[in-house]
Amino acid sequence: MSVESFPKFTPPAAKLWADIPAQTRKQLLSNVWCGRCKHSVTIKNFSGVVRANDLLLVGQCSECQSDVARMIESS
Ligand SMILES: [Zn+2]
Repeated sequence: MSVESFPKFTPPAAKLWADIPAQTRKQLLSNVWCGRCKHSVTIKNFSGVVRANDLLLVGQCSECQSDVARMIESS
């Protein structure tokens, strides 16, 4: 999945995501904690929403397919 495409993002979430440098986005996507795997994994099939001004990515662990989420605080 390309980090440049985010079809499942809400418009506000897509705007926040677009403001993050591409390199940082890659790091965020490949550094999501999975509670089942007990280590950092790559998130896949993710969507994005804005919660309390923070960007929340919700998707699946690329290794065990369980649900994972990553909150990205706006600075
Ligand atoms: Zn996992």
